[in-house]
Amino acid sequence: MWKYVAFILNLPWILIGVIVAIVSIPTGIKLSVDPFALVVQVKSFWWYNFLPSKKGVRAITNGHIICLGPLVEKNDLEHELIHVKQHQRQPLMHPLLYFLENLFHGYENNKYEQEAYLKSKSRYIDHA
Ligand SMILES: [Zn+2]
Repeated sequence: MWKYVAFILNLPWILIGVIVAIVSIPTGIKLSVDPFALVVQVKSFWWYNFLPSKKGVRAITNGHIICLGPLVEKNDLEHELIHVKQHQRQPLMHPLLYFLENLFHGYENNKYEQEAYLKSKSRYIDHA
């Protein structure tokens, strides 16, 4: 039951995820059942890449929408699925809490990223 309530509360982020997927030029789509997520293969994060610190971005998750870019690596999907579970645990407010973590601790020490890297065994690459 909670899963459905969380899903509805996450609808604004899901809508943003759909827009991100469309803008990034989708080339393929599949479904993850647990956690429930739409996994969209995209052509380019061109709109994000021109930001100097964001060049190496491999995947982006908004709510239950995961976008996998052309640079995606082994276990990146598992990493993004952890972010979907974080949205389920903290519906509606997760992106705000994530943003505050980044602001105060930086990306590398963001506890949500640390959880995702640890559980998925995905690889952090520093592009700075
Ligand atoms: Zn992450």
